[in-house]
Amino acid sequence: METIKENLDEIRQRIQAVCDKQGRDPGEVTLIAVTKTIDEDVVNQSLAFGITDIGENKVQEIERKYPNIRDGINWHLIGHLQRNKVKYIIDKVAMIHSVDSVRLAEEIDRRAEGVGRVMPVLLQLNVAREETKFGLDMAELYALLEDIAKLKHLKVRGLMTMAPFAEDPEEVRWVFRKMKEIFEAVKLKNFENISMQYLSMGMTNDYEVALEEGANMLRIGTGIYGARDYSK
Ligand SMILES: *Cc1c(COP(=O)(O)O)cnc(C)c1O
Repeated sequence: METIKENLDEIRQRIQAVCDKQGRDPGEVTLIAVTKTIDEDVVNQSLAFGITDIGENKVQEIERKYPNIRDGINWHLIGHLQRNKVKYIIDKVAMIHSVDSVRLAEEIDRRAEGVGRVMPVLLQLNVAREETKFGLDMAELYALLEDIAKLKHLKVRGLMTMAPFAEDPEEVRWVFRKMKEIFEAVKLKNFENISMQYLSMGMTNDYEVALEEGANMLRIGTGIYGARDYSK
């Protein structure tokens, strides 16, 4: 537990340092602690260190953990979402980061209406065009923005990406820079029902570079909780 606290302290100091350099307010940066594969006990204890937002990438894991994590925490679905699973998380998560099709958006809209809420979502882009990753390309993004504008129970609040893994995060700086450009371009277009507020990018290995390039939501797992054990 002590290690988790130290890790968090260090990450927060680094966020502060980048913000200081850029004249930004660290208060406008949301740190999402990625808790996938981490036991509920550990997650709950770590919440004492000021974590307000947690990220999970699997619907099943959210369903399993949800009743055991204390109230008042914002859950983020950061992984790929299948349409037939939207119903299981619609009343649980504060935000869905991985919208990448009209059909998924429509299902989220329909289920959100069913539980009487408006779901904040991010559109996931794959600017590095990696075949192994989900996400939209630019043409798809603009088509989706047009189609989504009419949905009443889902609101686009920004964009998300996962950069390719690189030993040296400088190699993926261009990905974050490109994302920021797209983010600003979409903002200027003033689409109906779209408010470009959040730019979710940056993980353990590259969050400082992502932050320097304009991220305001960081998703950090290993850097907080240590290496994941997928065998459990
Ligand atoms: C696992 C995961 C993260 C966190 O990765 P770390 O390298 O452990 O910080 C961030 N975003 C997504 C979408 C993930 O699946």
